[in-house]
Amino acid sequence: MPRVEARRRKRFIVDSMLGGLARWLRMLGYDTLYAKNWHDARILEVAESEGRAVVTRDHGLYVRAVKRGLEAVIVPEELEDALAILALRFGIELKVDPDRSRCPLCNASLRRASAEEVKGRVPPQVLERHSVFWVCTGCGQVYWRGGHWRGIEATLAEARKRLERLRGGGG
Ligand SMILES: [Zn+2]
Repeated sequence: MPRVEARRRKRFIVDSMLGGLARWLRMLGYDTLYAKNWHDARILEVAESEGRAVVTRDHGLYVRAVKRGLEAVIVPEELEDALAILALRFGIELKVDPDRSRCPLCNASLRRASAEEVKGRVPPQVLERHSVFWVCTGCGQVYWRGGHWRGIEATLAEARKRLERLRGGGG
C-alpha cells in the first residue's frame, strides 16, 4: 500500500527564493529539487523531463510553466500560507513522519538507525535521551526528534489551520 502511494507522490522543483520551503516539502516526504541560481529555462526543462510541479513566487516563471503545459503554483511569502496552498492543491498531508521524510539538506531518503549505530555522531546527551534515529542515505546526516520537533509541529498546526480556512471552513 505505501509503495503505491509513494509512486504517485507529486515531485516538485522550487525556485531560488524558496530554499526554506524546499526543506519543508522534503521533511513532509516529497522529492523536491531546489533550483538555486538556475535559469528559468533550466527549471522548466527539468520540470518537464522529470514530471515535477514548479513551485515559485515569480509570476513570470509561473506563466512560462503554465504555457508549457506544466503544473505550477505561486506561493505566498509566509511559510504557513505556502504550505497550506500546496496542501490544498496537491493533497499533501501536513504531518511529518520521519520514516517517510527525505533529507531536508540533500533530498535523499532517510532510514531508521539505532543509538548504537549513531554513537559518536551525535552529542552524548542526545544518545541518552533518544533511542530512535534516522540517517540520510545520501549525505549521512543523523536526525532525531529533538527540541526542534515542537517548532516543526507548531508550524504544521498553524498551516493546517490556514488550510481549513482556505477550504472555506469558516474564519
Ligand atoms: Zn542528506
